[in-house]
Amino acid sequence: MDDSGAILGQLSALKDMLDLVNEEIEANFQITRDIESEIVKCSEIERNLAARESDLMKSMYMLQFEIKGLMAMNDESRTRRECLQKELSCMKMKQDEILERMNNKREAFSTLCLEFQKGVDEEGRGKVGKLLAEKEYLENEVHQLKRKINSLQNSMSDFVQEIFEGIDAYNSELVLLPVRFLVDERKGQIKSGNSENDKLVKDINELKATLLVCLQQFHHDSHTSIRAKGKHQRICRFNHVSFPRLSFLSLKPVCRMVVLEGGHTDHKSVSNTMQINQLGNAEPHINIHDQIALTNGMAGKMCSGKHEDMTLEDIYDKDGDYDEEDDSDWEPVEKHMPIATWFCVNCTLVNIDDAIYCHICGEHKESGILRHGFLASSLHEAESVMNKSLEQNGNSEASCSQSISPHKLTAVGFDERMLLHSEVERKSHPHPERPDRLRAIAASLATAGIFPGRCHPISAREITREELLAVHSVENIESVELSSQCVSSYFTPDTYANKDSALAARLAAGLCADLASAIYSGRAKNGFALVRPPGHHAGVKHAMGFCLHNNAAVAASAAQAAGAKKVLILDWDVHHGNGTQEIYEQNKTVLYISLHRHEGGKFYPGTGAAHEVGSMGGEGYCVNVPWSRGEVGDNDYIFAFEHIVLPIAREFAPDFTIISAGFDAARGDPLGCCDVTPVGYAQMTKMLTSLSRGKVLVILEGGYNLRSISSSATAVIKVLLGENPEIMLENVVPSKSGLRTVLDLNFGNHHPSLCHILDLTKLEEKPPLNCFLYLPCPLINQVPFSQIQSKVQLLIASGTSHSSIMLSGANYCKGERL
Ligand SMILES: [Zn+2]
Ligand SMILES: [Zn+2]
Repeated sequence: MDDSGAILGQLSALKDMLDLVNEEIEANFQITRDIESEIVKCSEIERNLAARESDLMKSMYMLQFEIKGLMAMNDESRTRRECLQKELSCMKMKQDEILERMNNKREAFSTLCLEFQKGVDEEGRGKVGKLLAEKEYLENEVHQLKRKINSLQNSMSDFVQEIFEGIDAYNSELVLLPVRFLVDERKGQIKSGNSENDKLVKDINELKATLLVCLQQFHHDSHTSIRAKGKHQRICRFNHVSFPRLSFLSLKPVCRMVVLEGGHTDHKSVSNTMQINQLGNAEPHINIHDQIALTNGMAGKMCSGKHEDMTLEDIYDKDGDYDEEDDSDWEPVEKHMPIATWFCVNCTLVNIDDAIYCHICGEHKESGILRHGFLASSLHEAESVMNKSLEQNGNSEASCSQSISPHKLTAVGFDERMLLHSEVERKSHPHPERPDRLRAIAASLATAGIFPGRCHPISAREITREELLAVHSVENIESVELSSQCVSSYFTPDTYANKDSALAARLAAGLCADLASAIYSGRAKNGFALVRPPGHHAGVKHAMGFCLHNNAAVAASAAQAAGAKKVLILDWDVHHGNGTQEIYEQNKTVLYISLHRHEGGKFYPGTGAAHEVGSMGGEGYCVNVPWSRGEVGDNDYIFAFEHIVLPIAREFAPDFTIISAGFDAARGDPLGCCDVTPVGYAQMTKMLTSLSRGKVLVILEGGYNLRSISSSATAVIKVLLGENPEIMLENVVPSKSGLRTVLDLNFGNHHPSLCHILDLTKLEEKPPLNCFLYLPCPLINQVPFSQIQSKVQLLIASGTSHSSIMLSGANYCKGERL
């Protein structure tokens, strides 16, 4: 019993223990399960960590790669930085150099500035002063010119008024006359058809109209009288025409002036006045008034009753606009102009000292053009020439007929005594019409072996009074003769004379007359009169425009005396030959054709409009081709020759041709400002030799650029000798203004046959010009251009040979390009 209890006790104790163990086990199971779940959790974490690790590894690789790249870049950058540093240091060095140079230059410039300033200070006003003085001088001159224009205008108005009054008086006499003389005493009726009176009245009315026009134009032009436009600034205006550069303004009033009154009017005429200088004490005082009264047998009257000596200024300024003390402004150079200048030996124009080449002709300041060979001239040369002339005077009657060889050569007329004609008064620059012109041409001919050499010289002879009377009035002859008694005189402000000028003029005219008769009679093939003073401005009564006797007119008269029936005078001087026109405008046996700058009458001498066709039965025997502007050239002249000059000349069929050959339309001429080349002159000569069986006499007129006139005259004489010019006629296309001038010519009804064929295909090939259509339809101007255009196109389409369109001087239509 005790054992069982104990066992039982033990058993329960063991059971309790087992329960505890079971509990323990259960707890352990629980722990194990917890651990297992923990393990699961941990393996999950581990996986995540592995993934993370792999990501991080990837990132690390990437970063490493990037780091490598960056390191490489870094290396590169370092290298570049080093390079840049090197460059920078180089540039710094350069900059230093530049800075140094700049500093040097700045210093040098500063030094220069200082020196310049010093120079300016030293030279007083220096260049600035010079320029200021020049400006002042020019302003002064403009002022003086304005005053002179005003005074001229006033005196001109008075002059015209006076003429009007005279005309009225004369007219009223004429009105009275018929009452006394036109009444037929027996019938008590007025005689009808007294043509002389009618003519006189008509003349007077015409004269009145002309004067009115002149006066109006004078008033109009005086406002724009001094123009300065480029090359043309060398022309000063006087009255309604322009004078070449040497205007009256360059004359000093020391001249004593006497007005020669000629004819039957008692009005002063500016153009028949003549100033006579009494220069220096060496000359015995001549009582000019007495002399003129003696010499001028017609009506030696003093100007307006004024018997005191008058200056040019007095004449132009009789209203007293001038204060006498202001006399010095005639030669303002000395007073106002300290500017150093030089004149061009080639073209005589004045240049500012700074210029090395002439602004007009391009000749060098130090040009030696006058120093070589024949061109060398000196005062003693003139004396020796004079002595020679005295010797020659003894046998001056030696006729040219003996000296011309029978071999029909080209004859050249030249005499050194014509070099004695020169302006006495010393100016800042020579007169453009100067002895060097002949020297230059003669030198050029000698160099080319033409004269002496291939041409035959003819002996010089003074023209006789009788021969001159065929073209000039006593007034011209006596006023020229009178000039030989004065040291210096002026026929017009730009037309000078010295004591030898009359001789030179007589020799020039004599040479021209002898050449004309020699050529016409066949003793010479053709000829060139190398003469001066020129002639084509000299009219019936008056010497003007550098011209004393009209050489071309005298030659025409001599040719007619030798038997020529019809004489052509072709005048290509850039100025209109107003004298030649005046002499022959009523003469049907002399055809005068002139090509010249006209510009609506604004270019010297203002005459020569296309409508001036001759008068008193001579209508149609005067042909003017008036260029509307300068700068016309070879092609314009040759075009006009082809379409106007030659057709009219051929129709006239002259048996003798005279060329009034001024070379002042030549390229580089200071007065003409045109563009004709030696080749152009040669071509024109060639074209003219086709007339009058080649009997051509070329007479020198103007031309003031020594190089231009020499080369042009040489080219012309070469053609006379038989050489051919090089121009290609088919390439001749005139300038627009030249074409317009030619096509605008209107000769009224005087040249009805003046129709030319204008080849349209030529115009199509060369379309730079507006085409001008001339159709032989009298109403063409009223036909709309479109109609004409379509007509022409029809003509072209119909295959009319070259679609010839008639060109007519009278009828034309201007239009756009076809
Ligand atoms: Zn020059
Ligand atoms: Zn001229």
